[in-house]
Amino acid sequence: MLIRAATVLTMDPARPRARAVGIDGERIVAVGDVEAVRRELPPDAEEIDAGTGTVVPGFVDAHNHYLATAESFAGVEARDVTSIAELQRRVGEFAEQRPPGTWVRGHGLEWSAFDEGRMPDRRDLDEVSRTHPILLEHVSGHAILVNSLAMELRGVGDDVRDPDGGAFDRDDRGRPTGIARDGATNLLLGPSVDIGHHGPNFHTEVDLDEGVGMLAAAAPRYFAAGLTTIGDPQVSSRELGIYREADRRGVPGPRIVGMPLSHQLDELVAIGLAGPFGDDRLRIGAMKFYTDGAITAGTAAFREGLGPSRGTGTFYHEPAAFRALIARAHEAGWQLAVHTMGDRAFDLVLGALEDAFRASPAEDPRARIEHGTYPTPDQRGRMAALGVTPVTQPGSIRELGNVWTIQLGDRINEAMPLRGWLDLGIRPVISSDAFVQSFRPLDTVSAATWRVTPDGTRVGPHHELTIEEAVRAHTIDAARALRLEDRIGSLEPGKLADIAVIDGDLLAAEPARIGDLAVTLTFLGGDVVHEAVSVPGR
Ligand SMILES: [Zn+2]
Repeated sequence: MLIRAATVLTMDPARPRARAVGIDGERIVAVGDVEAVRRELPPDAEEIDAGTGTVVPGFVDAHNHYLATAESFAGVEARDVTSIAELQRRVGEFAEQRPPGTWVRGHGLEWSAFDEGRMPDRRDLDEVSRTHPILLEHVSGHAILVNSLAMELRGVGDDVRDPDGGAFDRDDRGRPTGIARDGATNLLLGPSVDIGHHGPNFHTEVDLDEGVGMLAAAAPRYFAAGLTTIGDPQVSSRELGIYREADRRGVPGPRIVGMPLSHQLDELVAIGLAGPFGDDRLRIGAMKFYTDGAITAGTAAFREGLGPSRGTGTFYHEPAAFRALIARAHEAGWQLAVHTMGDRAFDLVLGALEDAFRASPAEDPRARIEHGTYPTPDQRGRMAALGVTPVTQPGSIRELGNVWTIQLGDRINEAMPLRGWLDLGIRPVISSDAFVQSFRPLDTVSAATWRVTPDGTRVGPHHELTIEEAVRAHTIDAARALRLEDRIGSLEPGKLADIAVIDGDLLAAEPARIGDLAVTLTFLGGDVVHEAVSVPGR
């Protein structure tokens, strides 16, 4: 098969632009001008003319909670809710359609600027239902809001103590208000997986068939966005079990690289396992760790603190225990992927990596910093020296920038310093962190090229990428962060034929409007997995 278009962005530095791509079976066999590619294919090969469209490698989302996002598609969408009244209405409608006793779940809640001028609490949800347990996740995934029945079913009473690495919001008499943060969410989310205090727990109880069904329903949306590979950055037995079953049943979906959460380190070391391990459909990659909390939840660790309260944030582990954990995983051969947001957290993680790499030198450890929101200029230099790759989410500024402005103040201009890293020779990756932000790569590309908050303020424009840089950060550089750059991420002979065709001239698009462009065709391993209604020449 031959695909031709006005613009082919290959992400191959030896031939950045072309006019055609030739596919045989699951692989790319030729890239170049139309005649040259034709010569490499059988005479009766099918030809697709994408006209003025732009052909790019299938997008690689190196930090995308695929199962949790699929789950969020199936629950109450709270992303655009701006008042407690609206939240009650939406949750109420959802609950009415479900029998009493069924858990009502929701996602995407952001409560810092509700019309009522206060945060929601469990009483607001009790007014909606006392017969359905209700559990709503904050948009950050680092906090949840529940009703009284949910607390009761989980055995969380007024006298509950704050666990390691987490806290309950409390009223003036010390009773939980229904909001739990970081490690405290574990006590309410149910018995699906115990991850201790290794991260925020959004591993809700989902049975195998239900989970596979959610993935099957989500896959067409991912393909329609041009996504062909995801890295799930927080995998437990729940995620891997459901991914394996979906794979066994042949459910279509993007390639998956699962990143086990660090609570499983001892078990995995005991069986001699370290990533990469698996095949091109499903594999195990890096191991995921948490340093601090999240900016939107007010728990990221900043030297100067966050927001009006100047809270200096939460560490998931005691510093000495954290350093030991990182050192053990590195020594066992794991690629490290460490959630780190504030400069105070960077101090901890960079020191831990420096010690671990010194104690047991590795040729290409390729550590990742997830989010990597606010390194100081000095810390950026240490990242370059360690060969660390930041895996960032520009959509945070686009979608959560108003809260970030409250939390960070002027620091937002130096948050996610993509240009600063490029200048140091670092190749930053852009990703979605779906369910937190839009899973659509073109929304992420837009946000990386046009740093504007929801209220319209442009912040730190000196860190904006060009469109081509942003595509690179979402394809080949993302593949590199997943250790897959030898198989995907660019259009080169021998690579898997994962390709997205975008309607129109991507490079000429207005950065703010890139998210409006449609993906007309998506190929996964040479198979068409998404086709818009009208594709020229097909
Ligand atoms: Zn994440």
